[in-house]
Amino acid sequence: MKKFIYADNAATSKLDMDAFEAMKLYLLQEFGNVSQPYSFSRKPKKALQKAREIIATCIGAMPDEIYFTSGGTESDNWAIKCINLNQNKKKIITSSIEHHAVLNACKFMESFGYKIKYLNVDNEGTINSSTLEEAIDNTTSLVSIMYANNEIGTIQDIKTLCDISHSNGALFHCDAVQAIGHVKINVKDLGVDLLSASAHKFNGPKGVGFLYVKKGTHISSFFAGGSQENDLRAGTENIASIVGMAVALKNNCDNIENNVQHNRKLEDLFIRELDKTNIKYIKNGAKDKLPGLLSLSFRNSDGEAILHRLDLSGICVSTGAACNSTDTQVSHVINAISVDKAYEKGTIRISFGKDNTDDDVHEIVSALCKIFS
Ligand code: PLP
Repeated sequence: MKKFIYADNAATSKLDMDAFEAMKLYLLQEFGNVSQPYSFSRKPKKALQKAREIIATCIGAMPDEIYFTSGGTESDNWAIKCINLNQNKKKIITSSIEHHAVLNACKFMESFGYKIKYLNVDNEGTINSSTLEEAIDNTTSLVSIMYANNEIGTIQDIKTLCDISHSNGALFHCDAVQAIGHVKINVKDLGVDLLSASAHKFNGPKGVGFLYVKKGTHISSFFAGGSQENDLRAGTENIASIVGMAVALKNNCDNIENNVQHNRKLEDLFIRELDKTNIKYIKNGAKDKLPGLLSLSFRNSDGEAILHRLDLSGICVSTGAACNSTDTQVSHVINAISVDKAYEKGTIRISFGKDNTDDDVHEIVSALCKIFS
């Protein structure tokens, strides 16, 4: 039988078994609408509150600072489009390597007269804080920078960037979709005003996430409708998925050190094994990056073709972001870090997760050897 290796955990991850078990109760038995006053809705209502508390504890927030959403895309759009910005300050600063959920939400704001400034990154995908210092002024209302990049894994110095934003009177949003549950995050230590997360990136279910909104930050509702989520996010709560998200996040956060170690070990083994071959490649991204995420560019190659050849061997990797994997152009991130022209088109992303093993690493390297032989 053909072996199946899933090494695309940055695109989405397998549902945590405890999360699945916890969800079943709220799908099949305790399925009441939490907005109803009768006693049948008491249990799901309690579960909703408990999930809010668990998630808040995982990221150092207060429960009433957590707002449930349908995932990272909604959280990013809500944060950028609905934050109550000072009408006299029409500049938003973001980076050139953000996810399209942020880039396109910023683009939307241009139609309301906002000017968008895109910060450049260095060859490793890092934003030098001086570029923000140069770009920011008293017309800047919002700065939106991702915690970790989804294609190359580079982690930004969010605390410093947030401090610079605040000292210039701007609010700070952080897209932490790739980082939450994989590296330790404490919103109070970072100082951010808004932070986006998505459950399916940390072994939770798909189609659910949350937006952290610091107490006292004024944001208006994205959807018009009922009074759910403190009147700020209308729509019947996806209770089973919210419960699953909380269980998955707690499991990941409780085991974060082991998971980091496991993913780093796999990544190091992969590079050691790849270096034993004569395949010519570049490893993209900074030293400070997401554990287990490898962005590799192969000389005179086509990332798309490598992906399909690996697929024939039962191995799932990606060429970049899941959302634009049908796009055969060089991604905006690979462009922004100026990967050598001979290598840029041959980029793939391998992202290990807690279910991957040393055997998987050997299988992937051996499949690559066949491709490049
Ligand atoms: N932001 C980043 C950095 C991501 O990697 C993704 C998904 O790949 C998103 C936002 C969108 O999240 P979702 O799939 O939950 O809409």
